[in-house]
Amino acid sequence: MGPRQENKSVAQPEFLPRPVAPHPTPALYRGRFAPSPTGDLHFGSLIAAVGSYLAARHAGGQWFVRIEDLDPPREVPGSADRILRTLEAFGFEWDGEVVYQSKRHEAYRAAAQQLLQLGLAYECSCSRAEIAAAATFPVKGEEIPYPGWCRRGPLAPARQRALRLLVRDGTVDFTDALQGVVSSNVAAESGDFVIRRRDGLFAYQLAVTVDDAAQDITEVVRGADLLSSTCRQILLQRALSLSTPAYLHLPLAVDMSGVKLSKSLGAAALDARRPGRSLWQALKFLRQSPPPELRPDMEATGKPAQLWSWAIRQWNPRALGGVQSACVQL
Ligand SMILES: [Zn+2]
Repeated sequence: MGPRQENKSVAQPEFLPRPVAPHPTPALYRGRFAPSPTGDLHFGSLIAAVGSYLAARHAGGQWFVRIEDLDPPREVPGSADRILRTLEAFGFEWDGEVVYQSKRHEAYRAAAQQLLQLGLAYECSCSRAEIAAAATFPVKGEEIPYPGWCRRGPLAPARQRALRLLVRDGTVDFTDALQGVVSSNVAAESGDFVIRRRDGLFAYQLAVTVDDAAQDITEVVRGADLLSSTCRQILLQRALSLSTPAYLHLPLAVDMSGVKLSKSLGAAALDARRPGRSLWQALKFLRQSPPPELRPDMEATGKPAQLWSWAIRQWNPRALGGVQSACVQL
């Protein structure tokens, strides 16, 4: 947690209201898997795919795939297609068309405009270096809360400007299906956070919030590394009068030294020729216990159909309650 910064001379914005009338809950469960095309699907992302898929299919609901190709410089050419082909090889079946964030800029622009008009967002000309230089107790690797300098207008209007959400002090909390009550003081941790970057790219938090609402997602199942993002997304949902889906954050797969799998050597691409083996390992990681008679499915080439139907029928994430990360040896 970063140091809390207060500036009493700045008028505090009105607290973001909770939506008065919640959206009617769609009767059908709608889940999603939303990978970024920054590389091939690896075991860490397979966990999120399997968990979200099983939750949706166990509930008799729908499951959507969204490619979060929002940040072209970070993308690996061809990886979006390879992710989809790998999902197919594993036997995932998604509903509807795959959504690409790169084609949704108009929706993000409209949401940003709405926040500006409501006075809930403002333009900021500060550079990262300027914000870093002002930090009282910077901690390496931790976000430096933005001190709100541009709340009354950009300090350097001639520069390129980011767009920030106005964040009132106070905690945001939600009850996660596995992690219990999660609480975060976004104002202290990140301050008014960026929803459109200075280079014009929309920030992940805004795009995800807009897309989950547009797709009527009823439950978000994803890795626990995104727990702190969830509170920011809830603030954005309130600001845009969108309903808040249910959340279930799965344990994050880490290597022996506690490093998130996507950033370590263990993030080797999955073997799509023997999807059963990786699916078996994913089910074990998720503390599901596939019966030994399904072991042949594990070694088979092609879709592990019997393993899937067992896993969908038996899905029970309760054994994962409170586990935020778990070591995996592949
Ligand atoms: Zn600023």
